[in-house]
Amino acid sequence: MEVAIMGAGMSGLSCAITLEKHGVTPSIFEKRSCVGDRFVNAEGMFSILNRPTKDCLAQLSNEFNINLKPIDEVNKLFMHSKNEIGAIEGKLGYTNVRGRHEDSYENQLAKQVNAKINFKSTREYEYLCKNFEYVVLATGDGEYASHLGNYRCDLTCTIKGATVEGEFLTSVPHVWFNYEILPKGYGWIIPYSEKEANLVIAYPDYPDNIKLDLNDMWKKFYALACKDLDQNLRITDNFEVTRYMMGICDKAKLDNTYFVGNCFGTVSPGLGFGQYISMLTGVYSAYDICKIGTYEELTRPLLENYNHSIVLRRFLENLTDEDIDFQVKNLDNKITDNLVNKVFSNDSGIELLKLSTPLMRLWNNYKEFKSK
Ligand SMILES: Cc1cc2nc3c(=O)[nH]c(=O)nc-3n(C[C@H](O)[C@H](O)[C@H](O)COP(=O)(O)OP(=O)(O)OC[C@H]3O[C@@H](n4cnc5c(N)ncnc54)[C@H](O)[C@@H]3O)c2cc1C
Repeated sequence: MEVAIMGAGMSGLSCAITLEKHGVTPSIFEKRSCVGDRFVNAEGMFSILNRPTKDCLAQLSNEFNINLKPIDEVNKLFMHSKNEIGAIEGKLGYTNVRGRHEDSYENQLAKQVNAKINFKSTREYEYLCKNFEYVVLATGDGEYASHLGNYRCDLTCTIKGATVEGEFLTSVPHVWFNYEILPKGYGWIIPYSEKEANLVIAYPDYPDNIKLDLNDMWKKFYALACKDLDQNLRITDNFEVTRYMMGICDKAKLDNTYFVGNCFGTVSPGLGFGQYISMLTGVYSAYDICKIGTYEELTRPLLENYNHSIVLRRFLENLTDEDIDFQVKNLDNKITDNLVNKVFSNDSGIELLKLSTPLMRLWNNYKEFKSK
């Protein structure tokens, strides 16, 4: 069976690993000169966003035999709003590193693949389509799906980040929702060692936000992070991503082409997470090719998850700094604290996103009605 995988990232490599486990050797085409040939950044994988999965890494290992070693298990997540700081505690998920780092998830996945990866590939999709029985499009964005008229882009966002040196607990990331500084966006810091972390801001490219000065926002956020963490963070590297697409395919598969990872629409518009779902789409496309399952059916819950995440995005955008202060303050309230920690914990399996979608939708409708 001739299978071409275009893109050796999270979804493409997960597809390759699964195909090989079922006796199929794919041809992998990667445009860069090695796996993970991009800026180093730390990312997170939180099961609360991927329910009904309880523990993403355990699931990948037990069910799909894909084994990944994280940087650390997250046992505390600090939330900063304009005037409050709160924390969620428990087994919340994992942090990991991406890109050129030797322990990046891409590099760990590539070690589990036997097939040769054709680097610096200039093969076009059309060529692969003609010459292979199946093509798995895993290029990390919705461009190809868009050209094929199969993609709805819901928003794009601007991301600016830096590697910073300081003193960190690898099990404790921080996130900031402060609309005075980052309108409709957020910032975070994820350590990838006790001495290095990624400090990042992301915000949607709405017409209101286009006139914002990215460098000015960054300066203000950097100063805020230094103040809140009580350290003088030293910037050693930085990166920018513009017009990062968040959208979804109309059809998960067209003829002999599978759309996987961000090509399918795995990055959640709510908070920008996409690693775990990207890997699932890679595995599921391999299942379809090996006639173990049907890709459209397997990806249906992922589509549902995406739709919940869109509601979450609107919900977050409809909040004011005062609303967020209220919620963050309540994280440390004695009565709610225990409940929140339980719901977010890997042990619970509670589908918070799904359960809260109707309420968030009501709130969104109310806010939008009030603003007319
Ligand atoms: C700054 C940032 C922070 C993020 N943080 C998080 C986070 O904390 N948690 C989380 O879950 N998700 C996060 N995400 C999202 C997550 O990284 C993506 O959802 C995930 O990497 C998508 O996997 P993929 O397989 O679709 O693409 P990728 O893993 O990006 O792989 C795509 C591959 O395709 C290759 N390629 C591109 N074009 C071609 C071509 N024409 N021919 C051949 N190869 C090609 C690329 O070089 C790359 O190797 C973040 C994204 C960004 C940008």
